Amino acid sequence: QLQLKQEQKNIKIVVLGDSGVGKTSLIQKFCFDTLSEKEQTTLGVAYQSAQIVIKGQVLKLHIWDTAGGERYRSLAQLCYRDANAAILVYNITNQKSFEQIYYWEQELFERCTKLSIGLAGNKCDLNEERSVQKDYAQKYANQHDFSFYETSAKTGEGIQILFTDVIQKYLGQY
Ligand code: GDP
Ligand code: MG
Repeated sequence: QLQLKQEQKNIKIVVLGDSGVGKTSLIQKFCFDTLSEKEQTTLGVAYQSAQIVIKGQVLKLHIWDTAGGERYRSLAQLCYRDANAAILVYNITNQKSFEQIYYWEQELFERCTKLSIGLAGNKCDLNEERSVQKDYAQKYANQHDFSFYETSAKTGEGIQILFTDVIQKYLGQY
């Protein structure tokens, strides 16, 4: 008889960052390979599950998408609890969204201690309008021990590798 049962590991990932940086789009692209041009307002938190296989191991991802607004702050904070990993997102054409990364980091650390964190410099397809230098973000990521990639929810660039890195870091460390 075939042994079909395979132990599945669950990993909870929260995605944080300012409104409009592309959190929902990144998750959509990662899970379904689509991009919606229309801005879809995330109300509070949204949940999406996905499966990924890393080095032959099947992993079930529970991805929590948060809304940037202050109104939902306490709701979002609830979902940081028990998170194994986080992805902090900024928009490379918006300096302010990068400066806010530190705020999101503090938000996380208020609730979580051990976390594997990834930094996504999203909308890298809009290189012409760039206002955050890649080197600068890379340096920040190194100092804070974040995995870092520039990503595009439009082209898909950097997304798979970012998720894979963050998950591998989690599996390796904790
Ligand atoms: P959220 O508020 O962080 O969840 O941001 P959304 O995912 O709703 O995206 C906000 C807007 O940016 C939408 O119009 C998206 O189509 C657009 N967007 C998201 N990611 C990208 C990207 O990588 N490149 C470009 N050009 N547009 C993007
Ligand atoms: Mg959203």
